[in-house]
Amino acid sequence: MIRPDEIRSYYDEFDAPITALDCGRKCAPYNPSGKPFCCDICHAVPTAYAGEWEYLQANTGLWHEWLADKCVDREAERLEELARLRAETPDNMALIECLGPDKCERDFRALTCRQFPFFPYLTSDYRFIGLGYYWEYEEQCWVISNLDVVSDEYRRQFIAAFDRLFDRMPEELDAYGGHSEHMRQEFAKRRRAIPLLGRDGGVYKVSPASERLRRVAVENLPKFGPYRVAAALPFPDEVAEMQRP
Ligand code: SF4
Ligand code: SF4
Repeated sequence: MIRPDEIRSYYDEFDAPITALDCGRKCAPYNPSGKPFCCDICHAVPTAYAGEWEYLQANTGLWHEWLADKCVDREAERLEELARLRAETPDNMALIECLGPDKCERDFRALTCRQFPFFPYLTSDYRFIGLGYYWEYEEQCWVISNLDVVSDEYRRQFIAAFDRLFDRMPEELDAYGGHSEHMRQEFAKRRRAIPLLGRDGGVYKVSPASERLRRVAVENLPKFGPYRVAAALPFPDEVAEMQRP
């Protein structure tokens, strides 16, 4: 388990932005709330490890416990949503909510903020071979449709952070191993290969059945949702313009 007094060093060593430009400006125009999807509690609920949550509560007023009270109208729905996500969340993690993107404190972003939209992808024999992405966000997250923008430094810091974390919390290998397996099953059903930013700096497609890696040009990876439409237009910002009321 990571102790509260270790968290600052995790944050300091995993602080590089994904890309030089502010990707929130790329995705927010497609969200009716106007917020970047990963900072909109109605789209993504952050979590914190127990020691991390202790550290955050002692050092910033940015976060509070998530109560599922923003995105549903009825109390019954709220309780149902709370129960559902709590059941899906491991006992060593808290579901948390920040004050919102206009009040973000960069130094106190949780590890889940820093890693989004990626998770450490593990093979079926538990080797951490690179960055997979949370495929549920393919239609929302601009970065997923533009993996070429991910900086080498971000990739390096991500890998170092999770190498360290797995060393301290080996049980997380099980959690991410299970998530990687779930992705393989889902992508096998869809007959799709899994895009992967490899820990060796390469970009790959992983066969979900055989787990074989094929090196690919990052520019040739697929785009999704509005970002696919935008890429086909001569002036990508036209899509955002077209979607404004
Ligand atoms: S990581 Fe994805 S969802 Fe989050 S701000 Fe960047 S583009 Fe938007
Ligand atoms: S702390 Fe910042 S980066 Fe994290 S969810 Fe809140 S606004 Fe987004």
